[in-house]
Amino acid sequence: MGEPVYQRILLKLSGEALLGQADYGIDPAMLRRLASEIGKLVEDGVQVALVIGGGNIFRGAGLAEAGMDRVSADHMGMLATVMNGLAMQDALEREGVFTRVMSAIKINEVCEDYIRRRAVRHLEKKRVVILAAGTGNPFFTTDTAASLRAVEIGADLMLKATKVDGVYSADPVKDPSATRYETLSFDEVLDQRLSVMDTTAIVMCREQNMPLVVFDINRPGALAEIVRGESVGTRVER
Ligand code: UDP
Repeated sequence: MGEPVYQRILLKLSGEALLGQADYGIDPAMLRRLASEIGKLVEDGVQVALVIGGGNIFRGAGLAEAGMDRVSADHMGMLATVMNGLAMQDALEREGVFTRVMSAIKINEVCEDYIRRRAVRHLEKKRVVILAAGTGNPFFTTDTAASLRAVEIGADLMLKATKVDGVYSADPVKDPSATRYETLSFDEVLDQRLSVMDTTAIVMCREQNMPLVVFDINRPGALAEIVRGESVGTRVER
């Protein structure tokens, strides 16, 4: 087992990552597995910030398509990410990992507000920080929140957890000839419209020079390998 090569990481988990075998909501077995893998990183001395999505419960765009006011729908989406954050906190604390949930919208009876300096202080004290409610603004995504927070807290690397083991030239489910990229530049992702994250999130990483690794969260151990500096998934950088 090598030593971690990154001191501080930001892991973006979509709501879908918490679905596991479930159709809706949260699969407790998946949550336990994720908590155990994250806990091991903390044991190895890595500072971990998490940004959690909410797509397993509500997505604003989907609700808006069904006729709802987009801003209200996005508020519901943001609240969904808070619910996921609380579930993840519970799972992590049951693994013995100290955790704080910080929300971009004020819900003080439930969790702390996101304040950058406090978040960094928690990280320095080896607490996992779960950053919920995205950016706190409608019309954004938690991918954009992840890039923004990664830059704000001075993460060494952003990790985007997905269901596939990296970025492919086409959808590998539909096109068997699709090939996986080991590395890409942000410009290649933008020019070729590769589905990595939304454009706002990619541009943020590009402008602020935040390297990104896209990897398969369903493969146990992948997270630890990336943090040890092994080549896993697809790395996107300048
Ligand atoms: N959301 C938002 N502003 C943000 C981040 C998220 O309004 O800064 C809302 C939006 O409705 C989004 C939902 O929260 O659909 C859940 O986030 P996201 O779709 O990014 O979750 P994921 O796809 O990662 O599960």
